[in-house]
Amino acid sequence: MSPRKLTLEEWDRHYQELVAAGLHEPAYGGPLSRHLALEGDLRLRQLRFDDSPAALRLWNFLLTENHRLAEARAVGERIVGTMKDLGTVPVMVYALPGLRAFYPDGAWWTPCLMECSDGLLRQAEAEGIDASFCPVRAMLAAFQNQQHFPRPDLLVCSTGSVCDDFSAIAQRLERMGFPITWWEMPRRRAPEAQEAACPLPGGLTAPQCQVDCVRQELERVAELLGRLAGQTLTTELLAEGIRQANQVRRRLGALRQTVYGSVGAPLPALEMLVAEMLAIHFCSDRSQTLQVLTDLLEVAVARRNLGQFVVGEAATRIYWVNPVADLRAMNLLEDWGGRICGSDYMFTHALDPIPEDLPPLEALARTALADPMVGSTQERARRIVADCRTCRAEAVVISRIPGASHCAWEGASLRSIISRELDLPTVELEIPPICDAMVPTLAGRIQALIETARARRAAVST
Ligand code: SF4
Repeated sequence: MSPRKLTLEEWDRHYQELVAAGLHEPAYGGPLSRHLALEGDLRLRQLRFDDSPAALRLWNFLLTENHRLAEARAVGERIVGTMKDLGTVPVMVYALPGLRAFYPDGAWWTPCLMECSDGLLRQAEAEGIDASFCPVRAMLAAFQNQQHFPRPDLLVCSTGSVCDDFSAIAQRLERMGFPITWWEMPRRRAPEAQEAACPLPGGLTAPQCQVDCVRQELERVAELLGRLAGQTLTTELLAEGIRQANQVRRRLGALRQTVYGSVGAPLPALEMLVAEMLAIHFCSDRSQTLQVLTDLLEVAVARRNLGQFVVGEAATRIYWVNPVADLRAMNLLEDWGGRICGSDYMFTHALDPIPEDLPPLEALARTALADPMVGSTQERARRIVADCRTCRAEAVVISRIPGASHCAWEGASLRSIISRELDLPTVELEIPPICDAMVPTLAGRIQALIETARARRAAVST
């Protein structure tokens, strides 16, 4: 039977059939609707999910992270809250036994998942962090009420080349009694003529002195992590941690290549967005992340080989820039005739393998400096343009994040560079945490984009 997307109710019925047929699940398995009943994840009622057991596992893994952290705490593991760097410090944390990393930043999606019933945005507003900040302000309230993640044993946050929103909120957090270890991330710049240049993953370059600065900062973080774990983070341990992180990144790379590179989409955009997010901190379990991605890859390869797609060949190939605050937007794009063929969800540096032929901290420092959000918009646009060419994108959507300080002008700059370089239809739009009221507007803008791309496709093929 061809793959399809199911509502939550349909998935429950499908789940019973799979169980009756002998479905094997990990400990965090179970029907998806329990996350609605027990956790109040109301948004699940509005989403449609891929019907594979691999997708079921992905969702169950994602939606049980809080339990995983609580269980880790209960058996004496130490919890490290890593903030803002998206993909760097967690590699170090998971290199040490007895430590778990998570991103408090992930509270970003809680108001969407709980359709604002969590009250986090309202609570942040009462603290003076209003809608002029991006949805990451939910993190502040989540720290206060401690209902979404445990209080970390150590909080580590990058500073320097960091958006104003995060910087202000993290500083407020510290004043509220959550001590933070800050580490400096300089704004990436091009090396000057007399400076030694250093190649970074993703085809970037930075002055060696900036890489040295980040490496020294990470050395300081490594010392703290070692103290917390009661064991030095040696070069050997970190090299092994990098090797394992790269396994995850390569598996995800193969998945992206299979799904985005196929003539139709063997997996939906929504599940792919969630899968990409796993690369950042492994959703608090590195080995399970690898398993989850392996299952998804097997499904994607099998479907591609059989020519069975969730979204057919006729769909317009869309390159999507920035993560969406409301996950439903990914479903809607496909309903309106698009499919994702490539993405920059703001953490492309967490997708690139970390060099394994360098001293480990040097390799990690170079990877951290390749963060698309610490360099210029021109450099970010350059990678997007190259990706669009590789993945044969027919249109580009730049989704603004409401309140995000960098989105005020970055989207317009990206759009003008992409349009100039690629001559593709582009649209810039904003996706709020609950986009239901915006659906008519979004439909109009995305459908117009898709129609334009279709007309161009038809013109080329005649
Ligand atoms: S403003 Fe942008 S980069 Fe900063 S926390 Fe919000 S989404 Fe992340």
